[in-house]
Amino acid sequence: MPESLSTDVLIVGGGVAGLWLNARLRRLGFATLLVDKGALGGGQSVKSQGIIHGGTKYALSGALTGASEAIADMPRRWREALEGKGELDLSGVRLLSDAHYLWSPGTLAGNLTSFFASKAVRSRVGQVKGDELPPALQHPRFKGKVYRLSELVLDVPSLIARLAELAGDSLLACEQIEPLLDDNELVGLRVDGREIRAQRIVFSAGGGTAELLASLGLQQPAMQRRPLHMVIVKAPTLKPLYAHCLGGGTKPRITVTSHPTADGEWLWYLGGDLAEADGVARDEATQIAAAKKELAELVPWIDLSSAQWATLRIDRAEPAQSALARPDNAFLAEQGRLLAGWPTKLALSPDFSDRVEAALARDGIRPANHPALPQLPRPPLTGPFWEGLLP
Ligand code: FAD
Repeated sequence: MPESLSTDVLIVGGGVAGLWLNARLRRLGFATLLVDKGALGGGQSVKSQGIIHGGTKYALSGALTGASEAIADMPRRWREALEGKGELDLSGVRLLSDAHYLWSPGTLAGNLTSFFASKAVRSRVGQVKGDELPPALQHPRFKGKVYRLSELVLDVPSLIARLAELAGDSLLACEQIEPLLDDNELVGLRVDGREIRAQRIVFSAGGGTAELLASLGLQQPAMQRRPLHMVIVKAPTLKPLYAHCLGGGTKPRITVTSHPTADGEWLWYLGGDLAEADGVARDEATQIAAAKKELAELVPWIDLSSAQWATLRIDRAEPAQSALARPDNAFLAEQGRLLAGWPTKLALSPDFSDRVEAALARDGIRPANHPALPQLPRPPLTGPFWEGLLP
């Protein structure tokens, strides 16, 4: 029987939300343990596009929604952390781009008029031309308009690696988690047979949170999954591009991020409308054909004849909402010692952490004394999302 442990906050799930929270709490002096049954970051986090949104995308509908307001401060907070001057020291994390772009390929003036109707957007967005354009769009045949958004794009594997470093000795690989009850009250978890008592338990296990809640007999908070069918294309002719390409609607037609591969080429990761409902209904070959058609229309000067293609199906896990509407903020629900939620966006991990910290402060939870941790088996780190998908 492994020895019992005690900690202040026991976190289940080491995606960016759990790892960020863990690092924040440790910096505040709390003892923590973070358990994960897979690879750190290997859920949605590493498969995300790594964009630290400031909410401007949501203003495409013409009005700044709640989403735009809640998320507006995230680029500043992340930027400070990346400079080593923020709430966490993320210096050394690879910044793929210090801007994300909004790209209107043709004559979508109507769409942009409503977008720029918002004063808050006007102050955060500037048009770029000529050699300020993203490298992939610097071509005589390029027509259209490009706006620079004050948003960042991060290399998520390097972010995960840094957050794991900040976790020190608090990480524990696990296979089986069961509730640990005293008089019917949750006081911790039994992890692979080892009792771990904690003042608070946080479920930040992404798509795994619903199952964890069910193992405690809880149906709430309810979770929804939003399936996506992303496309990956790698070619020696690709240059970096980080952009939402506008279509006629309120959602980007495609969202492109670019990732350097080990052999020195760039890989484009395509999301946006292409990856949503119609894309989810397509099989892999049809989805690749749809992506080829989009790129042939949008960037016809890029020769993709020797490109390698793949698709990736992945669900976003979020709190349940009516009509699969996009949630506005990080979400946290509480029941006794248990806190459970979803950041809803990687960019909103600081907001998720704020909510947990506020709950601890409100309940007067403070760092207590705990015996030193023994050497624990650590969960592995995840690699790039395309590993195993391309030859
Ligand atoms: P996850 O990253 O899913 O991590 C959950 C962790 O919990 C995993 O490590 C898993 O192994 C572990 N786990 C699960 N079940 C258990 C269990 N029972 N016991 C122990 N451990 C368990 N957001 C942005 O801000 N910008 C973007 O550009 C962006 N792009 C996206 C693109 C795609 C295709 C997708 C799918 C999402 C995107 N998102 C983006 C959203 C973002 O990825 C997620 O909101 C965020 O990564 C969620 O982080 P998380 O830590 O909550 O969950």
